[in-house]
Amino acid sequence: MTDPGSEPLANLLREDRRFAPPAGLAASANVKADAYRAATADREGFWAKQADRLTWAKRWDKVLDWSDAPFAKWFTGGRINAAYNCVDRHVEAGRGDKVAIHWVGEPLDDTRDITYAQLQDEVCRAANALTALGVGTGDRVAIYLPMIPEAVVAMLACARIGAPHTVVFGGFSADALASRIEDCRAKVVITADGGYRRGTASALKPAVDEARTKTDKIEKVLVVRRTGQDLGEDGWDDATDIWWHDAVGSASPDHIPEAFDAEHPLYVMYTSGTTGTPKGILHTTGGYLTGVSYTHDAVFDLKPDTDVYWCTADIGWVTGHSYIVYGPLANGATQVLYEGTPDSPDPGRWWRIIQDYGVTLFYTAPTAIRSFMKQGDEIPGSFDLSSLRILGSVGEPINPEAYVWYREVIGGGRTPVVDTWWQTETGAVMMSPLPGVTAGKPGSAMSAIPGVGVDVVDDGGRSVPNGSGGYLVVTSPWPSMLRTVWGDDDRYVETYWSRFPATGERGAYYFAGDGAKKDADGDIWVLGRVDDVMNVSGHRLSTTEIESALVSHPKVAEAAVVGATDADTGQAVVAYVILRNEAGDGGPLIVKELSDHVRKEIGPIAKPRQIMIVPELPKTRSGKIMRRLLRDVAEGRAVGDTQTLADASIMDLIAAGQAAST
Ligand code: ATP
Ligand code: MG
Repeated sequence: MTDPGSEPLANLLREDRRFAPPAGLAASANVKADAYRAATADREGFWAKQADRLTWAKRWDKVLDWSDAPFAKWFTGGRINAAYNCVDRHVEAGRGDKVAIHWVGEPLDDTRDITYAQLQDEVCRAANALTALGVGTGDRVAIYLPMIPEAVVAMLACARIGAPHTVVFGGFSADALASRIEDCRAKVVITADGGYRRGTASALKPAVDEARTKTDKIEKVLVVRRTGQDLGEDGWDDATDIWWHDAVGSASPDHIPEAFDAEHPLYVMYTSGTTGTPKGILHTTGGYLTGVSYTHDAVFDLKPDTDVYWCTADIGWVTGHSYIVYGPLANGATQVLYEGTPDSPDPGRWWRIIQDYGVTLFYTAPTAIRSFMKQGDEIPGSFDLSSLRILGSVGEPINPEAYVWYREVIGGGRTPVVDTWWQTETGAVMMSPLPGVTAGKPGSAMSAIPGVGVDVVDDGGRSVPNGSGGYLVVTSPWPSMLRTVWGDDDRYVETYWSRFPATGERGAYYFAGDGAKKDADGDIWVLGRVDDVMNVSGHRLSTTEIESALVSHPKVAEAAVVGATDADTGQAVVAYVILRNEAGDGGPLIVKELSDHVRKEIGPIAKPRQIMIVPELPKTRSGKIMRRLLRDVAEGRAVGDTQTLADASIMDLIAAGQAAST
């Protein structure tokens, strides 16, 4: 019998388009091809050099202490303050008047520009206010805010006083908030009366009040007035609730940052919950900041004096932590922060923001790109997007067709697309093309960035040859790696380090949970979660490749594929498809048309047993498709945990459609 891990994933979606870096970008790129060699020759020396991007209060003694593997310590003995690095040092270097944040509220014309000097003032006041509320070094603070400047200020204020934050996405329920507060025992919650979504003020504070009935950990609640909405008679408790403008407004703007150990906890972030219960991922200070600062500079080729950067993630996700707050601010960037949804008040909102602010570097998720594709080219086509020079993608595999659309329609055919693969656990980008170096292939994250080692291995942990698929692993420790699962060291070891333990020749590999393949050139294509890999008549098939084949059909905007138990083939392919607007209902033969298309693109083995046209797909709040729920439906089970699902009613619609069609 063949070892299932060494059998190549059967799909062979053909993709041979290549996009070389523009010559100008290649010539002036922050990181050139020689970085790979230098980093491979001396990995620790390479990261020590990157750590020098930061300002340390005390230099480290040792770059990496791996003696208690897999519990890593980076830059041991070093002392550093993250907030000082993100704010004060830029002011001290004479860049206090530079805009740190162009904040764009959802209501039109509700904007604020915040300079580094103003940010310093606010962060210092907030740090003093938190200290006055009894928050000490090591205490946890929960942040439950909309995308307003105070969210960034709150995170940096916590970092400044050494109080690890846990940011909970503002769209989550009181239950989700309470369980995260309970898990990391946060004593203070920073929230707002509400925020704007799709043109209306939606309340946040009542969820905190409800969370207080479910956990007794919360001692104080600091409330930002954002919408001014009425909190109601029972909506305020003088014993716990304090207005941000009172506490922070009256606090002193002078605050001397204390330097903390490089391994001092910076934050706990819960994973998206795409594959199961969210895990509380712990990141610490010196190594994390080194990783996010370097990758933001290398992957986005940031030129702080001329670039305007915009990452559309919510700060409630790791992307917001690493590539809105810590990376860009450590690098002294000017960036856009947008409060609302992409389609408010109209579907051109994002493109208008890019045009108005002259955004040069843009970072978003495949789910957003596909939803714009669904609407057609006309809307982005009516804006001037010529300022853009690099486009980034994160969160899911980007289908080749979505990549090419992004590059052509949004990037005017000029801009490299950096497909960045990473996880909450990795803290920073691990695989990505470099915009001035790599000839990008649509749909491939290409290779590890300098300083990082990744591989694709079989069941026994052996590197697979080019042209084969297997498990994606990280082969050596990296500075921004998670340090543990909060409060659960065993789960940390078990989840990430026990699948590919150390052998006589090498240390343990970090198991990412994703499947991948190496193409003929050795470039890496992420194929989705290992849990999602299907086994049809003994052939291992990747969800991503079949989805990409479907998305390459001109009538299709999005697709999700799952394997459902099948009496004949073990598992069978079931596909859920969203059509592009211009395709209408797709016509009477749409199912056959799509099925034939998959057969042509990949082969008969990948042909779906069933294709359902649906209006929406179940996604997490961070926009990832939750295939495990679709699998439940396809197999006729009760739908599993939907706590992190953006819109639970979608599942009812899909389940009803499935019942009617089978
Ligand atoms: P949970 O671990 O709780 O199930 P999650 O894995 O969705 O949640 P995140 O840390 O937000 O939580 O997501 C990381 C995952 O996202 C990766 O493991 C990978 O599956 C996917 N991913 C992120 N970026 C890319 C990318 N560029 N290409 C392919 N997949 C990506
Ligand atoms: Mg995960």
